[in-house]
Amino acid sequence: MSQTQLDKQHILNTLDVKDIQLYINGEFVDAESEKTFENLNPFTNEVINHVAEGDKADIDKAVASANAAFKGTWRKMKVAERLDYVKKIAAVIDEHIDEIAPLESYDTGLPISQTKKMVARAAKNFQFYAEMVASRMVGEAYQADDEFINYTIHKPHGVAGLITPWNAPFMLETWKIAPALATGNTVVLKPAEWSPLTANKLAEVIDKAGLPKGVFNVVHGFGETAGASLVSNRDVKLISFTGETKTGSEITKNGADSLKRVSMELGGKSPIIVFDDADFERALDACTWGIFSFNGERCTANSRLFLHENIYDAFVEALKERVGNIIVGDPLDEKTQVGPLIHTTHFNNVKRYLEIAKEEGAELVSGKVPEAFKRGNFVAPTIVLNITNDKTVAQEEVFGPVLTVMKFKDEDEVIDLANDVEYGLAGYVWTKDIQRGHRVAQAIDSGMLWINSQNVRDLRIPFGGSKSSGIGREGGHYAFDFYTEKQVIHVALTDHHIPQFGKKKD
Ligand code: NAD
Repeated sequence: MSQTQLDKQHILNTLDVKDIQLYINGEFVDAESEKTFENLNPFTNEVINHVAEGDKADIDKAVASANAAFKGTWRKMKVAERLDYVKKIAAVIDEHIDEIAPLESYDTGLPISQTKKMVARAAKNFQFYAEMVASRMVGEAYQADDEFINYTIHKPHGVAGLITPWNAPFMLETWKIAPALATGNTVVLKPAEWSPLTANKLAEVIDKAGLPKGVFNVVHGFGETAGASLVSNRDVKLISFTGETKTGSEITKNGADSLKRVSMELGGKSPIIVFDDADFERALDACTWGIFSFNGERCTANSRLFLHENIYDAFVEALKERVGNIIVGDPLDEKTQVGPLIHTTHFNNVKRYLEIAKEEGAELVSGKVPEAFKRGNFVAPTIVLNITNDKTVAQEEVFGPVLTVMKFKDEDEVIDLANDVEYGLAGYVWTKDIQRGHRVAQAIDSGMLWINSQNVRDLRIPFGGSKSSGIGREGGHYAFDFYTEKQVIHVALTDHHIPQFGKKKD
Protein backbone atom coordinates (compact mmCIF):
# COMPACT_ATOMS: atom_id res chain seq x y z
CA MET A 1 0.00 0.00 0.00
CA SER A 2 1.15 3.56 -0.76
CA GLN A 3 1.46 6.12 2.06
CA THR A 4 -1.75 7.81 0.85
CA GLN A 5 -3.67 4.52 0.97
CA LEU A 6 -2.29 3.81 4.44
CA ASP A 7 -3.32 7.29 5.64
CA LYS A 8 -6.79 6.77 4.24
CA GLN A 9 -7.13 3.34 5.82
CA HIS A 10 -6.10 4.84 9.14
CA ILE A 11 -8.76 7.55 8.77
CA LEU A 12 -11.46 5.01 7.87
CA ASN A 13 -10.53 2.84 10.86
CA THR A 14 -10.78 5.80 13.22
CA LEU A 15 -14.08 7.03 11.73
CA ASP A 16 -15.97 3.98 12.94
CA VAL A 17 -19.29 5.09 11.39
CA LYS A 18 -22.39 3.55 12.95
CA ASP A 19 -26.08 3.89 12.20
CA ILE A 20 -27.48 7.21 13.34
CA GLN A 21 -30.39 7.97 15.65
CA LEU A 22 -32.28 11.15 16.46
CA TYR A 23 -31.19 13.19 19.48
CA ILE A 24 -34.22 14.23 21.52
CA ASN A 25 -34.37 15.35 25.14
CA GLY A 26 -30.77 14.32 25.75
CA GLU A 27 -31.26 10.76 24.42
CA PHE A 28 -30.27 9.06 21.16
CA VAL A 29 -33.50 7.44 19.94
CA ASP A 30 -35.01 5.74 16.88
CA ALA A 31 -37.71 7.46 14.87
CA GLU A 32 -41.25 6.79 16.18
CA SER A 33 -42.02 5.10 12.85
CA GLU A 34 -38.77 3.06 13.17
CA LYS A 35 -38.07 4.03 9.55
CA THR A 36 -34.51 4.68 8.35
CA PHE A 37 -32.93 5.97 5.15
CA GLU A 38 -29.63 5.18 3.48
CA ASN A 39 -26.72 7.60 3.59
CA LEU A 40 -24.41 7.32 0.57
CA ASN A 41 -20.70 7.90 0.11
CA PRO A 42 -20.26 10.38 -2.79
CA PHE A 43 -16.85 8.91 -3.63
CA THR A 44 -18.14 5.38 -4.26
CA ASN A 45 -21.94 5.65 -4.10
CA GLU A 46 -21.92 2.83 -1.56
CA VAL A 47 -24.09 2.93 1.54
CA ILE A 48 -22.20 4.41 4.49
CA ASN A 49 -24.85 3.82 7.13
CA HIS A 50 -28.57 4.05 7.94
CA VAL A 51 -30.15 7.10 9.47
CA ALA A 52 -33.32 7.32 11.58
CA GLU A 53 -35.97 9.00 9.44
CA GLY A 54 -37.80 11.49 11.64
CA ASP A 55 -41.16 12.95 10.64
CA LYS A 56 -43.96 14.94 12.27
CA ALA A 57 -44.21 12.72 15.37
CA ASP A 58 -40.49 13.08 16.11
CA ILE A 59 -40.45 16.80 15.37
CA ASP A 60 -43.39 17.34 17.73
CA LYS A 61 -41.60 15.33 20.42
CA ALA A 62 -38.37 17.31 19.93
CA VAL A 63 -40.20 20.65 19.99
CA ALA A 64 -42.04 19.65 23.18
CA SER A 65 -38.75 18.74 24.85
CA ALA A 66 -37.12 21.98 23.66
CA ASN A 67 -40.08 23.97 24.94
CA ALA A 68 -39.97 22.27 28.33
CA ALA A 69 -36.21 22.87 28.56
CA PHE A 70 -36.70 26.52 27.62
CA LYS A 71 -39.32 27.10 30.31
CA GLY A 72 -37.74 24.82 32.90
CA THR A 73 -34.02 25.54 32.82
CA TRP A 74 -32.43 27.44 29.94
CA ARG A 75 -34.46 30.66 30.21
CA LYS A 76 -33.98 30.79 33.98
CA MET A 77 -30.26 30.11 33.95
CA LYS A 78 -27.83 32.93 34.71
CA VAL A 79 -26.38 34.34 31.47
CA ALA A 80 -22.80 33.64 32.56
CA GLU A 81 -23.63 30.02 33.32
CA ARG A 82 -25.37 29.57 29.95
CA LEU A 83 -22.40 31.09 28.13
CA ASP A 84 -20.04 28.75 29.97
CA TYR A 85 -21.92 25.87 28.32
CA VAL A 86 -21.50 27.55 24.92
CA LYS A 87 -17.74 27.90 25.52
CA LYS A 88 -17.62 24.26 26.57
CA ILE A 89 -19.11 23.25 23.19
CA ALA A 90 -16.30 25.18 21.45
CA ALA A 91 -13.71 23.36 23.55
CA VAL A 92 -15.19 19.91 22.80
CA ILE A 93 -15.25 20.65 19.04
CA ASP A 94 -11.61 21.78 19.21
CA GLU A 95 -10.67 18.49 20.87
CA HIS A 96 -12.37 16.51 18.08
CA ILE A 97 -11.33 18.37 14.90
CA ASP A 98 -9.29 15.42 13.70
CA GLU A 99 -12.33 13.20 13.96
CA ILE A 100 -14.99 15.62 12.64
CA ALA A 101 -13.16 16.87 9.52
CA PRO A 102 -12.66 13.40 7.96
CA LEU A 103 -16.29 12.53 8.74
CA GLU A 104 -17.42 15.65 6.91
CA SER A 105 -15.25 14.80 3.89
CA TYR A 106 -16.37 11.17 3.89
CA ASP A 107 -20.03 12.17 3.94
CA THR A 108 -19.99 15.18 1.59
CA GLY A 109 -17.05 14.68 -0.77
CA LEU A 110 -15.49 18.00 0.31
CA PRO A 111 -11.67 17.79 0.30
CA ILE A 112 -10.22 17.19 3.74
CA SER A 113 -7.73 20.07 3.55
CA GLN A 114 -10.81 22.34 3.30
CA THR A 115 -13.08 20.65 5.87
CA LYS A 116 -10.34 20.88 8.53
CA LYS A 117 -10.49 24.67 8.28
CA MET A 118 -14.28 24.69 8.36
CA VAL A 119 -14.43 22.59 11.50
CA ALA A 120 -11.93 24.85 13.25
CA ARG A 121 -14.15 27.78 12.32
CA ALA A 122 -17.16 26.00 13.77
CA ALA A 123 -15.48 25.95 17.19
CA LYS A 124 -14.74 29.67 16.82
CA ASN A 125 -18.42 30.36 16.16
CA PHE A 126 -19.32 29.15 19.65
CA GLN A 127 -16.46 31.06 21.25
CA PHE A 128 -17.38 34.22 19.32
CA TYR A 129 -21.06 34.17 20.31
CA ALA A 130 -20.28 33.38 23.94
CA GLU A 131 -18.20 36.56 24.08
CA MET A 132 -20.44 38.65 21.86
CA VAL A 133 -23.65 37.89 23.73
CA ALA A 134 -21.97 38.70 27.04
CA SER A 135 -21.08 42.15 25.75
CA ARG A 136 -24.37 42.72 23.95
CA MET A 137 -26.80 42.19 26.84
CA VAL A 138 -27.14 45.93 27.15
CA GLY A 139 -30.49 47.69 27.00
CA GLU A 140 -31.51 51.30 26.50
CA ALA A 141 -33.15 53.63 29.00
CA TYR A 142 -35.58 56.37 27.94
CA GLN A 143 -35.95 58.90 30.68
CA ALA A 144 -39.10 60.99 30.06
CA ASP A 145 -38.96 63.28 33.08
CA ASP A 146 -38.87 62.51 36.75
CA GLU A 147 -42.31 60.80 36.62
CA PHE A 148 -41.33 57.60 34.81
CA ILE A 149 -38.61 55.79 32.93
CA ASN A 150 -38.68 53.20 30.06
CA TYR A 151 -35.97 50.65 29.53
CA THR A 152 -35.44 47.79 27.12
CA ILE A 153 -34.21 44.25 27.65
CA HIS A 154 -33.35 41.42 25.23
CA LYS A 155 -35.13 38.11 25.69
CA PRO A 156 -34.91 34.80 23.83
CA HIS A 157 -37.92 33.82 21.72
CA GLY A 158 -38.24 30.20 22.85
CA VAL A 159 -37.78 27.22 20.52
CA ALA A 160 -35.66 27.99 17.45
CA GLY A 161 -36.13 25.75 14.39
CA LEU A 162 -32.92 25.52 12.38
CA ILE A 163 -32.99 24.00 8.88
CA THR A 164 -29.66 23.55 7.13
CA PRO A 165 -28.16 22.44 3.78
CA TRP A 166 -25.54 19.81 2.95
CA ASN A 167 -22.76 22.10 1.73
CA ALA A 168 -20.29 22.77 4.58
CA PRO A 169 -22.97 21.35 6.89
CA PHE A 170 -21.08 21.33 10.19
CA MET A 171 -19.93 24.94 9.93
CA LEU A 172 -23.30 26.23 8.71
CA GLU A 173 -25.16 24.41 11.49
CA THR A 174 -22.93 25.89 14.17
CA TRP A 175 -23.37 29.33 12.69
CA LYS A 176 -27.02 29.14 13.69
CA ILE A 177 -26.80 27.00 16.82
CA ALA A 178 -24.16 29.16 18.53
CA PRO A 179 -26.13 32.46 18.53
CA ALA A 180 -29.45 30.66 19.13
CA LEU A 181 -28.20 28.94 22.30
CA ALA A 182 -26.05 31.83 23.52
CA THR A 183 -29.05 34.19 23.44
CA GLY A 184 -31.11 31.71 25.49
CA ASN A 185 -33.25 29.93 22.91
CA THR A 186 -33.52 26.16 22.79
CA VAL A 187 -33.00 24.39 19.47
CA VAL A 188 -34.43 21.78 17.16
CA LEU A 189 -32.05 21.19 14.24
CA LYS A 190 -33.25 19.56 11.00
CA PRO A 191 -30.02 18.89 9.09
CA ALA A 192 -29.87 18.06 5.39
CA GLU A 193 -30.65 14.44 4.58
CA TRP A 194 -27.55 14.08 2.37
CA SER A 195 -25.06 14.98 5.13
CA PRO A 196 -26.17 13.52 8.47
CA LEU A 197 -22.79 12.35 9.85
CA THR A 198 -21.45 15.56 11.35
CA ALA A 199 -24.90 16.68 12.52
CA ASN A 200 -24.90 13.51 14.59
CA LYS A 201 -21.39 14.34 15.78
CA LEU A 202 -22.69 17.73 16.87
CA ALA A 203 -25.30 15.99 19.02
CA GLU A 204 -22.52 13.90 20.56
CA VAL A 205 -20.38 17.00 21.14
CA ILE A 206 -23.24 18.86 22.83
CA ASP A 207 -24.09 15.79 24.87
CA LYS A 208 -20.46 15.69 26.03
CA ALA A 209 -20.55 19.40 26.89
CA GLY A 210 -23.33 18.44 29.35
CA LEU A 211 -26.10 20.81 28.28
CA PRO A 212 -29.38 20.30 30.17
CA LYS A 213 -31.71 17.76 28.53
CA GLY A 214 -33.88 19.12 25.73
CA VAL A 215 -31.91 22.34 25.13
CA PHE A 216 -30.53 20.95 21.87
CA ASN A 217 -32.28 18.36 19.66
CA VAL A 218 -31.54 16.90 16.22
CA VAL A 219 -34.20 15.34 14.00
CA HIS A 220 -32.87 13.78 10.80
CA GLY A 221 -35.29 13.32 7.92
CA PHE A 222 -36.58 14.81 4.70
CA GLY A 223 -37.60 18.37 3.94
CA GLU A 224 -41.21 17.72 2.95
CA THR A 225 -41.90 15.76 6.16
CA ALA A 226 -39.54 16.59 9.04
CA GLY A 227 -38.62 20.08 7.74
CA ALA A 228 -42.20 21.07 6.92
CA SER A 229 -43.43 19.85 10.35
CA LEU A 230 -40.86 22.03 12.10
CA VAL A 231 -42.05 25.04 10.08
CA SER A 232 -45.73 24.46 10.89
CA ASN A 233 -45.30 23.68 14.61
CA ARG A 234 -46.83 26.58 16.58
CA ASP A 235 -44.40 26.22 19.49
CA VAL A 236 -41.48 26.99 17.18
CA LYS A 237 -41.04 30.74 17.35
CA LEU A 238 -38.53 31.27 14.58
CA ILE A 239 -37.00 29.51 11.61
CA SER A 240 -33.46 30.13 10.50
CA PHE A 241 -33.03 28.52 7.09
CA THR A 242 -30.11 28.11 4.71
CA GLY A 243 -30.76 26.44 1.38
CA GLU A 244 -32.23 26.92 -2.05
CA THR A 245 -34.24 29.99 -2.93
CA LYS A 246 -37.37 28.03 -3.88
CA THR A 247 -37.31 26.12 -0.56
CA GLY A 248 -36.85 29.41 1.30
CA SER A 249 -39.90 30.85 -0.36
CA GLU A 250 -41.97 27.77 0.48
CA ILE A 251 -40.88 27.90 4.13
CA THR A 252 -41.71 31.60 4.36
CA LYS A 253 -45.18 30.85 2.96
CA ASN A 254 -45.79 27.85 5.24
CA GLY A 255 -44.50 29.67 8.32
CA ALA A 256 -46.86 32.62 7.77
CA ASP A 257 -49.84 30.90 9.46
CA SER A 258 -48.03 30.85 12.78
CA LEU A 259 -46.26 34.20 12.09
CA LYS A 260 -42.78 32.71 12.24
CA ARG A 261 -39.85 35.06 12.37
CA VAL A 262 -37.66 33.95 9.46
CA SER A 263 -34.03 34.33 8.47
CA MET A 264 -33.32 33.20 4.91
CA GLU A 265 -29.84 32.49 3.55
CA LEU A 266 -30.46 31.42 -0.03
CA GLY A 267 -28.83 30.76 -3.38
CA GLY A 268 -26.24 32.82 -5.24
CA LYS A 269 -24.82 33.48 -8.70
CA SER A 270 -22.07 35.86 -7.80
CA PRO A 271 -20.00 37.91 -10.25
CA ILE A 272 -16.24 38.38 -10.19
CA ILE A 273 -15.15 41.38 -12.25
CA VAL A 274 -11.53 41.68 -13.34
CA PHE A 275 -10.39 45.00 -14.86
CA ASP A 276 -7.31 45.24 -17.07
CA ASP A 277 -5.27 46.99 -14.35
CA ALA A 278 -5.85 44.21 -11.79
CA ASP A 279 -3.04 42.17 -10.26
CA PHE A 280 -3.34 39.38 -12.83
CA GLU A 281 -1.91 36.49 -10.81
CA ARG A 282 -3.76 37.31 -7.59
CA ALA A 283 -7.04 37.75 -9.46
CA LEU A 284 -6.44 34.40 -11.15
CA ASP A 285 -5.74 32.72 -7.79
CA ALA A 286 -8.84 34.23 -6.23
CA CYS A 287 -11.09 33.41 -9.16
CA THR A 288 -9.90 29.79 -9.36
CA TRP A 289 -10.20 29.25 -5.60
CA GLY A 290 -13.55 31.04 -5.42
CA ILE A 291 -15.27 28.75 -7.89
CA PHE A 292 -13.45 25.42 -7.52
CA SER A 293 -12.93 25.21 -3.73
CA PHE A 294 -15.60 23.25 -1.85
CA ASN A 295 -16.28 21.49 -5.18
CA GLY A 296 -18.05 24.65 -6.37
CA GLU A 297 -20.83 23.77 -3.91
CA ARG A 298 -20.57 27.11 -2.22
CA CYS A 299 -23.24 29.80 -1.94
CA THR A 300 -20.74 32.65 -2.38
CA ALA A 301 -18.87 30.96 -5.27
CA ASN A 302 -17.81 33.42 -7.98
CA SER A 303 -19.59 31.50 -10.71
CA ARG A 304 -19.75 34.37 -13.26
CA LEU A 305 -16.42 35.81 -14.38
CA PHE A 306 -16.43 39.14 -16.28
CA LEU A 307 -13.08 39.94 -17.91
CA HIS A 308 -12.07 43.26 -19.42
CA GLU A 309 -11.54 42.80 -23.16
CA ASN A 310 -7.85 43.81 -22.93
CA ILE A 311 -7.00 40.86 -20.69
CA TYR A 312 -9.65 38.39 -21.86
CA ASP A 313 -7.43 36.18 -24.04
CA ALA A 314 -4.51 36.01 -21.61
CA PHE A 315 -6.73 35.36 -18.59
CA VAL A 316 -8.71 32.63 -20.35
CA GLU A 317 -5.47 30.92 -21.43
CA ALA A 318 -4.20 31.00 -17.85
CA LEU A 319 -7.53 29.69 -16.55
CA LYS A 320 -7.45 26.78 -19.00
CA GLU A 321 -4.03 25.84 -17.71
CA ARG A 322 -5.15 26.06 -14.07
CA VAL A 323 -8.27 23.98 -14.74
CA GLY A 324 -6.15 21.31 -16.39
CA ASN A 325 -3.87 21.12 -13.35
CA ILE A 326 -6.46 21.01 -10.57
CA ILE A 327 -6.14 17.80 -8.56
CA VAL A 328 -9.46 15.97 -8.68
CA GLY A 329 -9.67 12.98 -6.39
CA ASP A 330 -10.41 11.23 -3.14
CA PRO A 331 -11.80 13.71 -0.59
CA LEU A 332 -9.82 12.01 2.19
CA ASP A 333 -6.53 12.65 0.39
CA GLU A 334 -4.79 15.81 1.65
CA LYS A 335 -3.63 16.67 -1.89
CA THR A 336 -7.12 16.66 -3.40
CA GLN A 337 -8.41 20.05 -4.50
CA VAL A 338 -11.79 19.03 -5.96
CA GLY A 339 -13.76 16.00 -4.74
CA PRO A 340 -17.00 14.30 -5.85
CA LEU A 341 -20.33 16.14 -5.66
CA ILE A 342 -22.59 15.30 -2.75
CA HIS A 343 -25.16 13.02 -4.40
CA THR A 344 -26.06 11.47 -7.76
CA THR A 345 -29.19 13.65 -8.00
CA HIS A 346 -27.10 16.80 -7.67
CA PHE A 347 -24.41 15.35 -9.96
CA ASN A 348 -27.04 14.73 -12.68
CA ASN A 349 -28.33 18.24 -12.23
CA VAL A 350 -24.89 19.79 -12.74
CA LYS A 351 -24.27 17.53 -15.77
CA ARG A 352 -27.64 18.65 -17.20
CA TYR A 353 -26.52 22.29 -16.95
CA LEU A 354 -23.38 21.45 -18.92
CA GLU A 355 -25.52 19.78 -21.60
CA ILE A 356 -27.79 22.83 -21.77
CA ALA A 357 -24.73 25.10 -22.09
CA LYS A 358 -23.54 23.04 -25.08
CA GLU A 359 -27.00 23.08 -26.66
CA GLU A 360 -27.05 26.87 -26.24
CA GLY A 361 -23.79 27.12 -28.20
CA ALA A 362 -21.18 27.43 -25.45
CA GLU A 363 -17.66 25.99 -25.55
CA LEU A 364 -16.69 23.90 -22.52
CA VAL A 365 -13.11 23.47 -21.32
CA SER A 366 -12.76 20.87 -18.57
CA GLY A 367 -10.05 19.45 -16.34
CA LYS A 368 -9.46 15.76 -15.76
CA VAL A 369 -11.13 13.15 -13.57
CA PRO A 370 -8.80 10.16 -13.09
CA GLU A 371 -10.27 6.99 -14.61
CA ALA A 372 -10.10 5.16 -11.25
CA PHE A 373 -12.60 7.58 -9.71
CA LYS A 374 -15.39 7.23 -12.25
CA ARG A 375 -17.65 5.49 -9.71
CA GLY A 376 -18.03 8.68 -7.69
CA ASN A 377 -20.07 11.81 -8.46
CA PHE A 378 -17.18 13.61 -10.14
CA VAL A 379 -17.63 16.63 -12.37
CA ALA A 380 -14.36 17.93 -13.78
CA PRO A 381 -13.66 21.62 -13.11
CA THR A 382 -15.08 23.37 -16.16
CA ILE A 383 -14.99 26.82 -17.72
CA VAL A 384 -17.78 27.85 -20.06
CA LEU A 385 -16.78 30.13 -22.93
CA ASN A 386 -18.68 31.71 -25.85
CA ILE A 387 -21.63 32.48 -23.69
CA THR A 388 -23.84 35.51 -23.15
CA ASN A 389 -25.43 36.62 -19.91
CA ASP A 390 -28.95 35.65 -20.94
CA LYS A 391 -28.09 31.93 -21.23
CA THR A 392 -29.35 29.38 -18.67
CA VAL A 393 -25.95 28.48 -17.26
CA ALA A 394 -25.10 32.17 -16.78
CA GLN A 395 -28.35 32.86 -14.94
CA GLU A 396 -29.18 29.81 -12.81
CA GLU A 397 -27.28 28.53 -9.78
CA VAL A 398 -25.35 25.43 -10.94
CA PHE A 399 -23.70 24.82 -7.53
CA GLY A 400 -20.80 22.84 -8.96
CA PRO A 401 -17.26 23.46 -10.30
CA VAL A 402 -18.48 25.41 -13.31
CA LEU A 403 -17.37 28.94 -14.23
CA THR A 404 -18.98 31.02 -16.98
CA VAL A 405 -16.64 33.54 -18.59
CA MET A 406 -17.77 36.74 -20.33
CA LYS A 407 -16.07 39.80 -21.81
CA PHE A 408 -16.81 43.49 -21.10
CA LYS A 409 -15.69 46.86 -22.51
CA ASP A 410 -16.29 49.37 -19.75
CA GLU A 411 -17.48 49.97 -16.21
CA ASP A 412 -21.13 50.79 -17.00
CA GLU A 413 -21.53 47.72 -19.17
CA VAL A 414 -20.09 45.35 -16.56
CA ILE A 415 -22.24 46.79 -13.75
CA ASP A 416 -25.36 46.19 -15.85
CA LEU A 417 -24.24 42.66 -16.71
CA ALA A 418 -23.30 41.78 -13.14
CA ASN A 419 -26.67 43.00 -11.83
CA ASP A 420 -28.69 41.33 -14.56
CA VAL A 421 -29.40 38.18 -12.52
CA GLU A 422 -32.02 37.08 -10.00
CA TYR A 423 -29.54 36.63 -7.15
CA GLY A 424 -27.59 39.13 -5.04
CA LEU A 425 -25.50 37.26 -2.50
CA ALA A 426 -21.84 38.16 -3.08
CA GLY A 427 -19.53 39.85 -5.56
CA TYR A 428 -15.82 40.40 -6.19
CA VAL A 429 -14.04 43.29 -7.95
CA TRP A 430 -10.41 43.32 -9.03
CA THR A 431 -8.76 46.64 -9.97
CA LYS A 432 -5.83 48.75 -8.79
CA ASP A 433 -7.89 51.91 -9.25
CA ILE A 434 -9.24 52.40 -5.74
CA GLN A 435 -11.93 54.88 -6.79
CA ARG A 436 -13.23 52.55 -9.46
CA GLY A 437 -13.11 49.65 -7.00
CA HIS A 438 -15.43 51.41 -4.56
CA ARG A 439 -17.66 52.80 -7.32
CA VAL A 440 -18.25 49.40 -8.88
CA ALA A 441 -18.58 47.67 -5.50
CA GLN A 442 -21.32 50.07 -4.44
CA ALA A 443 -23.15 49.71 -7.75
CA ILE A 444 -23.37 45.91 -7.53
CA ASP A 445 -26.61 44.66 -5.96
CA SER A 446 -25.27 42.11 -3.49
CA GLY A 447 -25.29 41.61 0.25
CA MET A 448 -21.49 41.32 0.34
CA LEU A 449 -18.71 42.50 -1.91
CA TRP A 450 -14.95 41.95 -1.73
CA ILE A 451 -12.43 44.28 -3.45
CA ASN A 452 -9.08 42.71 -4.41
CA SER A 453 -9.72 39.85 -2.03
CA GLN A 454 -11.39 36.51 -1.76
CA ASN A 455 -14.21 35.37 0.47
CA VAL A 456 -12.54 36.27 3.77
CA ARG A 457 -15.00 36.09 6.64
CA ASP A 458 -15.05 38.31 9.68
CA LEU A 459 -17.63 36.98 12.17
CA ARG A 460 -18.62 40.50 13.19
CA ILE A 461 -19.90 41.53 9.76
CA PRO A 462 -23.42 40.93 8.43
CA PHE A 463 -23.57 37.85 6.21
CA GLY A 464 -26.45 37.47 3.76
CA GLY A 465 -27.93 38.37 0.44
CA SER A 466 -30.16 40.84 -1.35
CA LYS A 467 -32.71 40.09 -4.13
CA SER A 468 -33.52 36.35 -4.26
CA SER A 469 -30.48 35.48 -2.14
CA GLY A 470 -32.12 36.03 1.20
CA ILE A 471 -33.95 37.93 3.88
CA GLY A 472 -32.06 39.22 6.91
CA ARG A 473 -28.44 38.78 7.91
CA GLU A 474 -26.50 36.28 9.98
CA GLY A 475 -23.29 37.04 11.85
CA GLY A 476 -22.28 39.59 14.47
CA HIS A 477 -24.95 41.54 16.28
CA TYR A 478 -27.33 40.89 13.38
CA ALA A 479 -27.71 37.32 14.61
CA PHE A 480 -28.11 38.61 18.16
CA ASP A 481 -30.97 40.85 17.03
CA PHE A 482 -32.69 38.00 15.16
CA TYR A 483 -32.51 35.55 18.06
CA THR A 484 -33.73 38.02 20.69
CA GLU A 485 -37.06 39.74 21.30
CA LYS A 486 -36.95 43.32 22.62
CA GLN A 487 -39.14 44.14 25.56
CA VAL A 488 -39.84 47.63 26.89
CA ILE A 489 -40.47 48.01 30.60
CA HIS A 490 -42.10 51.17 31.88
CA VAL A 491 -41.73 52.13 35.53
CA ALA A 492 -43.52 54.94 37.35
CA LEU A 493 -41.16 56.92 39.57
CA THR A 494 -43.93 58.99 41.19
CA ASP A 495 -47.67 58.62 41.76
CA HIS A 496 -48.32 60.56 38.57
CA HIS A 497 -51.79 61.34 37.28
CA ILE A 498 -53.94 58.38 36.13
CA PRO A 499 -57.43 59.20 34.76
CA GLN A 500 -60.13 57.93 37.18
CA PHE A 501 -62.85 56.40 34.99
CA GLY A 502 -66.05 55.42 36.86
CA LYS A 503 -64.89 56.74 40.22
CA LYS A 504 -67.58 58.62 42.19
CA LYS A 505 -66.75 62.24 42.82
CA ASP A 506 -66.84 63.22 46.55
P1 NAD B 1 -32.43 22.71 -0.03
O1 NAD B 1 -33.26 23.94 -0.05
O2 NAD B 1 -32.77 21.62 -0.97
O3 NAD B 1 -32.44 22.03 1.42
C1 NAD B 1 -32.02 22.73 2.57
C2 NAD B 1 -32.73 22.15 3.79
O4 NAD B 1 -34.13 22.40 3.69
C3 NAD B 1 -32.59 20.63 3.93
O5 NAD B 1 -32.41 20.31 5.30
C4 NAD B 1 -33.93 20.11 3.43
O6 NAD B 1 -34.29 18.86 3.95
C5 NAD B 1 -34.86 21.20 3.91
N1 NAD B 1 -36.14 21.32 3.20
C6 NAD B 1 -36.39 21.02 1.90
N2 NAD B 1 -37.70 21.26 1.62
C7 NAD B 1 -38.27 21.74 2.76
C8 NAD B 1 -39.58 22.17 3.11
N3 NAD B 1 -40.58 22.17 2.22
N4 NAD B 1 -39.82 22.60 4.37
C9 NAD B 1 -38.81 22.63 5.28
N5 NAD B 1 -37.56 22.21 5.01
C10 NAD B 1 -37.28 21.79 3.76
O7 NAD B 1 -30.93 23.21 -0.21
P2 NAD B 1 -29.62 22.31 -0.39
O8 NAD B 1 -29.65 21.72 -1.75
O9 NAD B 1 -29.48 21.44 0.80
O10 NAD B 1 -28.46 23.42 -0.30
C11 NAD B 1 -27.92 24.10 -1.38
C12 NAD B 1 -28.48 25.51 -1.45
O11 NAD B 1 -28.17 26.24 -0.25
C13 NAD B 1 -27.87 26.34 -2.58
O12 NAD B 1 -28.89 27.05 -3.23
C14 NAD B 1 -26.94 27.30 -1.85
O13 NAD B 1 -26.66 28.50 -2.53
C15 NAD B 1 -27.69 27.54 -0.58
N6 NAD B 1 -26.80 28.05 0.46
C16 NAD B 1 -26.90 29.38 0.83
C17 NAD B 1 -26.05 29.90 1.80
C18 NAD B 1 -26.15 31.35 2.22
O14 NAD B 1 -25.58 31.68 3.25
N7 NAD B 1 -26.83 32.20 1.49
C19 NAD B 1 -25.08 29.08 2.38
C20 NAD B 1 -24.99 27.74 1.97
C21 NAD B 1 -25.87 27.24 1.02
